[in-house]
Amino acid sequence: MFKNFKKNLKKFYWSKILRKKYYRTGKCNCCGSCCRKIYVQSARGVIKDKDELEKLKLLHRFYTYLNVIGEDEIGLIFECTKLDPETNLCKIHDDRPDICRRYPQEEMFMMGGAQCEECGFKFEPVIPFEEVLQKAIKKSGKKEKQKE
Ligand code: SF4
Ligand code: SF4
Repeated sequence: MFKNFKKNLKKFYWSKILRKKYYRTGKCNCCGSCCRKIYVQSARGVIKDKDELEKLKLLHRFYTYLNVIGEDEIGLIFECTKLDPETNLCKIHDDRPDICRRYPQEEMFMMGGAQCEECGFKFEPVIPFEEVLQKAIKKSGKKEKQKE
């Protein structure tokens, strides 16, 4: 019973106080993947041409670190010049931008992004899909009854 109470308290804290949809667990294993394959999202979607990056460079120093290394159906692919290719560590770790400090965050899923396969962090929904489904079924059942 105490275990359930703790579980529910944790769920309440993450969903209602922190307003998160996922629990983030694990830790960085310093694989460097997130600094090696980067898509850049602007207000108009994932950027597909270099001119757009030039504009973004004026807005934040993070974009000035990026070099184009390729392109695919999603958009341009960048790598960060601040990554040390020998050690996989960030050369400006103590002064890295906030966006790097916060990575990975659940917002990237909302924006259509995905986590690197090698990443040591894991995301698990705070409210499991089955629970959401059960609630939706109950709710639609109630509505049907009200109509009768
Ligand atoms: S600044 Fe550092 S942490 Fe951020 S993407 Fe570049 S190498 Fe990675
Ligand atoms: S992909 Fe994940 S584990 Fe790898 S460096 Fe980035 S945050 Fe760390």
